[in-house]
Amino acid sequence: MTCSTNERINPSLSSNFSEGVSTKFYTAGANALICIMPDLIKKIRSLEKVSRQLEPGDEARKSVLKKVLDYSDDFLRDLETAKVFEKKDDSGKELSETPVTEEGKDIDTLLGLISRNVDHNGVNPASGGYLGYIPGGGLYFSATGDYLADVSNRFAGMYFASPGAVRMENVLIRWMSDMLGFPKEAAGNLTSGGSIANLIAVTTARDNFGIKGRDLDRCVIYHTAQYHHCIDKSIRIAGLKECIKRNIPMDDSFRMIPGELDKQIQIDLKNGLRPWLVIASAGTTDVGAVDPLDKIGSIARKYEMWFHVDAAYGGFFMLTAKGKKVLKGIELADSVVLDPHKGLFLPYGTGAVIVRDGAKLQNTFSFQANYMKYATEENEYSPAEMSPELTKHFRGMRMWLPLMLHGVKAFRAALEEKLLLTRYFHEKIREAGFETILEPELSVATYRFIPSNGDANDFNSRLLEEVKKDGRVFISATTLEGRVVLRMACLSFRTHVEHIDLLLLVLKEKVEKLLADPAFK
Ligand SMILES: *Cc1c(COP(=O)(O)O)cnc(C)c1O
Repeated sequence: MTCSTNERINPSLSSNFSEGVSTKFYTAGANALICIMPDLIKKIRSLEKVSRQLEPGDEARKSVLKKVLDYSDDFLRDLETAKVFEKKDDSGKELSETPVTEEGKDIDTLLGLISRNVDHNGVNPASGGYLGYIPGGGLYFSATGDYLADVSNRFAGMYFASPGAVRMENVLIRWMSDMLGFPKEAAGNLTSGGSIANLIAVTTARDNFGIKGRDLDRCVIYHTAQYHHCIDKSIRIAGLKECIKRNIPMDDSFRMIPGELDKQIQIDLKNGLRPWLVIASAGTTDVGAVDPLDKIGSIARKYEMWFHVDAAYGGFFMLTAKGKKVLKGIELADSVVLDPHKGLFLPYGTGAVIVRDGAKLQNTFSFQANYMKYATEENEYSPAEMSPELTKHFRGMRMWLPLMLHGVKAFRAALEEKLLLTRYFHEKIREAGFETILEPELSVATYRFIPSNGDANDFNSRLLEEVKKDGRVFISATTLEGRVVLRMACLSFRTHVEHIDLLLLVLKEKVEKLLADPAFK
């Protein structure tokens, strides 16, 4: 192969190049390589020109960020007046019709798309008037924390890679563990949410007893009918679907009856079965009921079973005096699930699992890989050996920053305020002629309106639809023993007394409207 003179590499490039290339390659194809080089460099340089667009300069960064900040400020400013539920006729179809293309678009166009199709479409959980399902809100300083974590992109999976990021997450786990009253051997993991946290707990419990496939149809799991459906998913994913599951009877307040649990365990033992896991709820999603954790915990201890507490909704009420009383016995648990994106008001994407004996959690999720051989450290648990994840979002930062900036006091006050707002709502809604279903234990109120004529379930379903259509506040509903029941769940840091008053007003207006309907006259 010969090269024409003008294709030949220039002398300075050529000498740089000969240093950087292995001799073997160089001698094998010296002639050919010298011919290719100018083209190769030219090509690389021309690609670089385009690929460098991925690294915006000072000005481009500042200009996009300023627009994003303005947009977010407007969003927050409008929260007080914006609808909590908006139904778009096209349900945001514009997004489906805007494909990802070769050429980029400008930030104004994209913010417009986001505003029209995402931020003003469906429910708005950022609003203080969002009182459905389980709210949280979304702390601003979590977004700031995410920004910091994402810009520096520390690898929070392994201690050796980022001792600081791992320590930060472990500090948070220690803080939650102390809040629960767990011993110093406890450890845990920050997850993407409560569902994955429950999966981690169930899997750890399984491995603790070395439960094998052949044992499954003898192994018994105990819970109430009110346990969260994600635990049922966890049980299936963990390969435990064939276990026997017992729905333990509940009292009138939808709490597990400990005596019934004990009785059922004894019957099962007598029949040669193997009771191994008790699942209690520290605040059911449906009605906010807290199972008697202390009594259930003692029973689990007595029979040497694993005691798991799903505190995804209620756990952070441990920061309040009332919560501590209601959740008494949580310290007996072998594992607890918490959801900082509920009770600590973080934006969606952060749950937590805490295991009483951290070594058991590590036993389930530790791993060996050739490419990680030199990457383990003895003195701190690494998130990667405490969960199914390896590379993960550095989610500690979004929890640490707001906690450190505000201090715990602000969170405690907000949680106490939610408990009292729920009490307030409970009294007021009764005054307004509604039937209340349960005394709220934490911050979920259950109620329904009984019209003197017509079907009550129909009335309350329609009442829910009317409130949704109105959009000034948002609530949800459930079915309890065949009755359609409305729920008011108060857990957003943005919810204050005026939101509760607005809900009361909207409910009153809608009841009047429905009572004028021939179906209920
Ligand atoms: C929300 C919730 C879950 C599920 O958690 P996600 O964060 O939604 O995955 C589990 N259990 C209870 C009691 C909950 O309230």
